[in-house]
Amino acid sequence: MSSWLPIAADSGFGLANLPYGVDDNSVLVAVGDAVLDLTACARATGSPYADVVSRPSLDLLLAAGPSVWAAVRADIATWLTDPSYRPVVEPLLRARDDATLRLPFTVGDYVDFYASEQHATNLGRILRPGEPALRPNWHHLPVGYHGRSGTVVVAGTPVVRPHGQLGPGRFGPTTRLDVEVEVGFVVGAPSAQGTAVSVSAFASHVFGVCLVNDWSARDIQGWEYQPLGPFLGKSFATSVSPWIVPLAALSAARVPVGSAGRELATYLREDEPWGLDLTLELRRNGEVLSRPPYREMFWSPAQMLAHVTVNGASVRTGDLYASGTVSGADRSQWGSLIELYDNSEFLADGDDVVISATAPAADGTRLSFGDVRGVVKPAVTALQD
Ligand code: CA
Repeated sequence: MSSWLPIAADSGFGLANLPYGVDDNSVLVAVGDAVLDLTACARATGSPYADVVSRPSLDLLLAAGPSVWAAVRADIATWLTDPSYRPVVEPLLRARDDATLRLPFTVGDYVDFYASEQHATNLGRILRPGEPALRPNWHHLPVGYHGRSGTVVVAGTPVVRPHGQLGPGRFGPTTRLDVEVEVGFVVGAPSAQGTAVSVSAFASHVFGVCLVNDWSARDIQGWEYQPLGPFLGKSFATSVSPWIVPLAALSAARVPVGSAGRELATYLREDEPWGLDLTLELRRNGEVLSRPPYREMFWSPAQMLAHVTVNGASVRTGDLYASGTVSGADRSQWGSLIELYDNSEFLADGDDVVISATAPAADGTRLSFGDVRGVVKPAVTALQD
């Protein structure tokens, strides 16, 4: 399958990817160096799915469920490969660099997990020296917490250095602002309250994958987090990539996860638990700090969704859950500054942080995720004592 549109083999946005985003007017699909105005294209081709992409949001498409996701994706591929569509479709392409991308869906509930054994071990050592790095529950359930969905922002949104309590009697702007390199999963089809989503039903509910930067104020976090977990040290901002890569694009990226073969509660058992072979990259001011490997995570995306719902809690269209910081065995694979610099170096005002990722695509190329960029802005002085 090849397109009438010239697409460089190393573009990262070939026909095997086709991620979705939005600008102020339309749903967009990234292809090569271009974006296709999906809203206009569905209308122009008389697509039966024109309604679900008629607004500049993925919300209706997410809610439409897996059969519509597959049909829309197949139509897009046809439009971009069948030369008879070229006269209609080509005028609806624009340069990708010119697109002003917005938060692509209304974020429902947001959950952040802690699914990397290496990260959990590194953090345990730093935050609780002298104690076992992993708590007794860690290998038995995907540890997580409910975050703040209202402060999830799209890539490019500046992040203002937060204020908070930094310790007993100490208040002010954080001096330990950090990043966490994570992978996010976007729920499309909802589940009913009082039911649990089984590991095998994962693909019936989850639409796609994005990148996440879970900005963290380590001094606020360290003072507040016991006994109820992360709170204001996390809730000031969480950045997501502007493109949502559909699960259908990631079939060639599936790999086993660390929990495979373990003795687990029944609801967490998968016949073949799979994660994704994403290679992430963390850059600060243009310098590569690390390349965290998502393939080394312990808990799978399906296990995390099963755990979120095992008590009967429902998921809604637009719910987002993130993996937790991705860290591999080697220092060059650690996904946060607290790990990379052993709790001694953090972000300065003006720092420009970018998280990117690639993964194997079905056509033998590597597909790209949209970058998550964020620049640190100085603290708002009006909040100071
Ligand atoms: Ca996190």
